[in-house]
Amino acid sequence: MLSFEDTTSVAGLGLGPAAAFLPQAAALSPLTDAKSQTLSESFRRIKVEDKRIINGKTDVNQLVPFKYKWAWEKYLSSCANHWMPQEINMSRDIALWKDPNGLTDDERRIIRRNLGFFVTADSLAANNIVLGTYRHISAPECRQYLLRQAFEEAIHTHAYQYIVESLGLDEGEVFNAYHEISSIREKDEFLIPFIDTLTNPSFRTGTLEADQKLLKSLIVFACIMEGMFFYVGFAQILALGRQNKMTGAAEQYQYILRDESMHCNFGIDVINQIKLENPHLWTTEFKDEIRSLIQRGVELEYRYAEDTMPRGVLGLNAPMFKEYLRYVANRRCQQIGLDSLFPGASNPFPWMSEMIDLKKEKNFFETRVTEYQTGGALSWD
Ligand code: FE
Repeated sequence: MLSFEDTTSVAGLGLGPAAAFLPQAAALSPLTDAKSQTLSESFRRIKVEDKRIINGKTDVNQLVPFKYKWAWEKYLSSCANHWMPQEINMSRDIALWKDPNGLTDDERRIIRRNLGFFVTADSLAANNIVLGTYRHISAPECRQYLLRQAFEEAIHTHAYQYIVESLGLDEGEVFNAYHEISSIREKDEFLIPFIDTLTNPSFRTGTLEADQKLLKSLIVFACIMEGMFFYVGFAQILALGRQNKMTGAAEQYQYILRDESMHCNFGIDVINQIKLENPHLWTTEFKDEIRSLIQRGVELEYRYAEDTMPRGVLGLNAPMFKEYLRYVANRRCQQIGLDSLFPGASNPFPWMSEMIDLKKEKNFFETRVTEYQTGGALSWD
């Protein structure tokens, strides 16, 4: 139960006024006329024009009136795309993995390294949202989407764990890869200072410096982590699937890719809306810093591509990813209003764009495990 007199429950969560879960009103005590007037002002009904993505003063518990309809629409379409890992049949993958001649050593290396990055990446993403981003965002429509996104990150971690378990991989090796494999560790070490900014309990927005830090962390997270660090790994597993190998894992990755591209687009919408509401944050120095961070992201992801593919495999090789990452980096720059970093870079994997646009309905239910039932499908007979 919430105690309306226990203000420490808010402070104890490290929440600033903008992010507090109750509006800033006087403690509830017997009302005098004067107090009643103050209260009615504090609790005056929300006007759309007062809502802000960050540093807003409106009640975060009131989802409506909607100001950021794009966030609500993304929440609705994410819910419409709900899926669970155990709905996907893994029996062909298991048979292929156990067949000594089923996959080459290079293909097995890709799968191990791939899971080595992803099994912890979505957990980092979930922590970043739940312990960091969420409390700094003062628009309830965006918070609603972030709650859905956090659950999707949990589903993705579940999916990777489900693949590891299905194939009987060494859990210790896979889950510790982010400590033990340098190309994976370097990507995470790049991200962690930005996650630490948002999750630090004493971090508060409301100054130029703090708001720029928040914006920088949001850009690193949406454009570099979700918008770039996932893409070599996704392309590799989907390339296996296109060759009719590891089709269950590839199907899971298709759904994850679709979710992640929505996360990335939502993050970009948030970033652009913050820019619109706070144009003073978008200075020349800040833009230069973001461009160099994106450049660094390309280098780290390319190193991961080289490490996972020391030789050409599946018709892919590391140099192809150099061009692809440059193409993706340009796209991220353009999406947040920066000049391209690599003018003229083209997409060597047009099929990846088709995968991102996948409509689940196309093939999802054909591959559904029949004995699995979602809560909504329970029989009440
Ligand atoms: Fe995500």
